[in-house]
Amino acid sequence: MARDLIVEGSLLDADGARPGYARLRAGRLVETGSIGTDSARGRVRRVRGIVVPSPVNGHTHLGDAVATREPPHVPLSEMVRPPDGYKFRLLRDTPPRAKRAAMRRALEMMARQGVAATIDFREEGVPGARLLRSAGRGTGVRTVILGRPIRRPVNPAEIARLLAVADGIGLSSVGEESERSREIVARACHHRGKRFALHASESTREPVDAYLDPRPDLLVHLAKATSDDLLRVVDAGVAVAVCPRSNALFGRRPDLARFERLGVRMLLGTDNAMFHSPSIWRELEFAYVTGRLVRRPVRPEFLFRAAFVHPYEWLGEPERARLEVGGPVRPLAFRLPPDDPAYQIVARATEHVMVRAGPSPTASGESA
Ligand SMILES: [Zn+2]
Repeated sequence: MARDLIVEGSLLDADGARPGYARLRAGRLVETGSIGTDSARGRVRRVRGIVVPSPVNGHTHLGDAVATREPPHVPLSEMVRPPDGYKFRLLRDTPPRAKRAAMRRALEMMARQGVAATIDFREEGVPGARLLRSAGRGTGVRTVILGRPIRRPVNPAEIARLLAVADGIGLSSVGEESERSREIVARACHHRGKRFALHASESTREPVDAYLDPRPDLLVHLAKATSDDLLRVVDAGVAVAVCPRSNALFGRRPDLARFERLGVRMLLGTDNAMFHSPSIWRELEFAYVTGRLVRRPVRPEFLFRAAFVHPYEWLGEPERARLEVGGPVRPLAFRLPPDDPAYQIVARATEHVMVRAGPSPTASGESA
């Protein structure tokens, strides 16, 4: 097979790191084993490196990709608060066609970076969710859409229409949504087997009892949560998506060493596409380096799991995080030193050191 690729070095997945080789063909894993035992007879391309599953971006707002300038230096509340914050004015003033094009460009960039899926908070109701569904088609990046209803008080008919398009609902926060709204939304999501998520304790600490009731499937940020709050979240079995670059832009830093110590099931997201490129590679490096910066280091293995393992568990598809021949994993190969693979992937991986084996499989069947 002239287009096969054999990567000799390390395999890193949900089960940890191990030395070995992987043979890739058309974006799939066709063979693994100990180095030197592969079935190829010399004619297959070989590189030394690391093989991992494809990462998942745990939190985005891709609609914000319509922004093209430096974000204004204003507090977070003026920036993203519904309904009149800077971002909502920007979304309102941009025609749907331009929004769809911006989201598609962001998704195509993510595809080039090897990202398999993104868990997106898509505002603007049913039309907003439809626009992202359409933008993602054929890009190879699966869009897990957590839509947001427009009407308040929330309207059951609108929620039903939204959940017919979206994978769930992602609300702003307990400060901006009444308990009644959250209850109706959570019940509607769970009744249809969909996900209920919301932001919590981003710029100020919010009461843990409020954001855990009704129980969400996913919380975003918790930058201001205390250790006791985080323990409650862990006990409730709720996953948390953190966005270190987005928090840093507003002078905040989630203490990921504490998240690690307390056993938080963490995902890693790039947040508003108006602030940052949706690059999971930049996010991983930033998360690692800022921990060292403030002498609160976090282990590379913990960050690896946040981008490559926990999201698939959250989606109920843990087998996608395992490098198994015949499994659904979409392997990525990197030309990086294989001795300390989790560190290399977290601190040094970018699409520029990614090695492709033949044409990638299209994911059109996976984007719905
Ligand atoms: Zn967010």
